[in-house]
Order: sequence, then structure tokens, then C-alpha cells
Amino acid sequence: MKVKTSNIEDTKKLAEIFASCLSTEGAFVSLFGDIGAGKTAFARCVFKALGVKEKITSPSFVILNEYKGAKLPFLGENSFAACKNSVQKPEKELPIYHFDLYRLENEGLETIKEELREYSRPGVLTFVEWADFGAGELPYNRLNIKVFYDEAEFNDTRYYEFEPVGAEYEEFVRKIAALAKSEGLLK
Ligand code: ADP
Ligand code: MG
Repeated sequence: MKVKTSNIEDTKKLAEIFASCLSTEGAFVSLFGDIGAGKTAFARCVFKALGVKEKITSPSFVILNEYKGAKLPFLGENSFAACKNSVQKPEKELPIYHFDLYRLENEGLETIKEELREYSRPGVLTFVEWADFGAGELPYNRLNIKVFYDEAEFNDTRYYEFEPVGAEYEEFVRKIAALAKSEGLLK
């Protein structure tokens, strides 16, 4: 599934859809794409949608940021039809881990692989930017998101391509696609 966002507002909408489809099991998301494509922007919008109040910055220098305060089920402003029935359930805290592997040297992956493994467990939400550098240490079941932009076009158009690996994530992406369609983000 490939979603075109024409501006940051569309990306925010996509992030809210993503947040609304998450269960308390959380997710492992590996992000690919060039500098400035919109990996951090998407992560930030998802974390905000889930209720994180802290400032969300790029973890490119610190490798890993942790956020508290995210709650599930999603009770954001946009209550999408597919998750309306979950609104009555009590909220549960969802820990968030946001990696950026860009500045890891080859041997650097060794220093972070315990954390990558630890944060692949159910019940947490993990985003990994520059997942290309984590090859071999990523869990098999995950959602790959490839972010593109057309360098020839100096505008705000971005493409978010969702690639599920494993049955659970296939179902997750089907839900996101259905909502993206009904919200007019996907043809
Ligand atoms: P990355 O993490 O991939 O290096 P960032 O998310 O830090 O990239 O930067 C993306 C930049 O592009 C931000 O300044 C953001 O505001 C801007 N931008 C413009 N249009 C969009 C869009 N449609 N979706 C996401 N970001 C956008
Ligand atoms: Mg980034």
C-alpha cells in the first residue's frame, strides 16, 4: 500500500489512522528513506496522536529516545469508525522507543542490538529510522515503511509505502488501507 500525502496535514491524518489501528500489543516499525523524506515527521505525528506531550525530536544524535504518556486505545479527535467500539475500554500505557541508526558505525550495531531485541517485544511501540543499518537485528514480524519524495518537485508531496511482514501486520495494513481510503488519502 502506497499513500501519497500532499502536505504535512495529510501525513498527520495518516499518522492518526495508524494510531487508531494500533492495539495494546503495539508494533515494530522499520522506516526507510532519504534524509528529509519524512520519517521523523511521521513518527512525531503518531506519538502526538497517542497522547505524548513531550517535545518529540529526531534521535539521530542520541540513537534512541523513549517516550511515556502514550495511551491505548486511541482516543484522538478523529474517532474512526473501525475503532469506535474500543473507546469504552480502559486506557493502557504504551511505551514508545524511537531509534535512528544512521550514525551507528559498523560495530555500533553491537552496542544497540540488546535494546533492539528488548523493544521488539509485544506491548511496546518501536520506530526505527534508517532500519537499513539494523539488518539482521530486526524482528521478522514487522511493518516496513518506505518514505519517498520526488526531488524534481520542490513541494510537500511525500509517499509512504507500507510493507507488512507477517500475518498480523498484513491485517494491520489492511485496516489502515481501508481507513486511508475512506479518508480520501488512498484511491
Ligand atoms: P527524515 O526523518 O526522513 O530525515 P524529517 O521528518 O526530519 O525527515 O523531515 C521531513 C521534512 O519535510 C520536515 O521538515 C517536514 O515538515 C517536511 N514535510 C513537508 N511535507 C511533508 C509531508 N507531506 N509529510 C511529511 N513531512 C513533510
Ligand atoms: Mg529522521
